[in-house]
Amino acid sequence: MITSHGTLEVPREVTMSNPCIICVAITGSLPRKENNPAVPITVEEQVESTQAAFEAGATIAHCHVRNDDQTPSSDPEKFARLMEGLKKHCPGMIIQLSTGGRSGAGEERGGMLPLRPDMASLSVGSNNFPNRVYENSPQLVDWLAEEMLKYDIKPEIEAFDLSHIHQAVNLSKQGKLKAPLYVQFVMGVKNAMPADKPTFDFYIETLKRLAPDAQWCGAGVGPNQLKLNEWSIAAGGHTRTGLEDNVRLDRDTLAPSNAALVERAVALCEKYERPVASWQQAREILGLGQPA
Ligand SMILES: [Zn+2]
Repeated sequence: MITSHGTLEVPREVTMSNPCIICVAITGSLPRKENNPAVPITVEEQVESTQAAFEAGATIAHCHVRNDDQTPSSDPEKFARLMEGLKKHCPGMIIQLSTGGRSGAGEERGGMLPLRPDMASLSVGSNNFPNRVYENSPQLVDWLAEEMLKYDIKPEIEAFDLSHIHQAVNLSKQGKLKAPLYVQFVMGVKNAMPADKPTFDFYIETLKRLAPDAQWCGAGVGPNQLKLNEWSIAAGGHTRTGLEDNVRLDRDTLAPSNAALVERAVALCEKYERPVASWQQAREILGLGQPA
């Protein structure tokens, strides 16, 4: 039900007893030191930034790696060093590696999956990005999904479009994804789905109708980050923040750290009376085992 203020009204029991998982997307492929000096680039910076975000309340670390010149990389050796540092300094935190398309092409995008992270991102369809087509052929999607099953990795489905939610449910029903289904609604990417509240509500309705056991998360890009954080937390879902999606606190202020963006999501959880999920709760909600 939508109130006169346009916010989603959710029964109190849905929020109060429902921990919110906060994911921090620490680096991404695009933001550079020139955009915000707090963007962690080296593995050492990434570990330090993630540890502060973990202590602030984030329980999933969504990770990309970079070359020394800040360009995106899909080097499994770098991912391995990052995982080692995160396991040591953020014990229990869920490690999610990106198989997104900016750091490589084709099967190169899944080259780090044999490292067996807890989770990996999985795009299940194509769409436009600001300056190009984000291409995810059915063959590549099937291959990535098979690799994730083989290495016992839970996918986070990246839904840039409504059809991606349907496709995620199809793959899940075919047993191609480790259950329960976990879908992230991504909004505000230029030339893809804008941050549109009725569409967001319909995403939730559609996922719940097709896959009642699914869990979902909302992520917004740029100024839409805060909006998606608030919509998701208010509606009983999980949420993602971090410098990958947005380097600012507001129009005039750069975010001083990933942790500062996590603190903002934590404050929204307080506003909507959502407990912030501990890493143990996050692992239970997502059907993940305890850390190795
Ligand atoms: Zn990413």
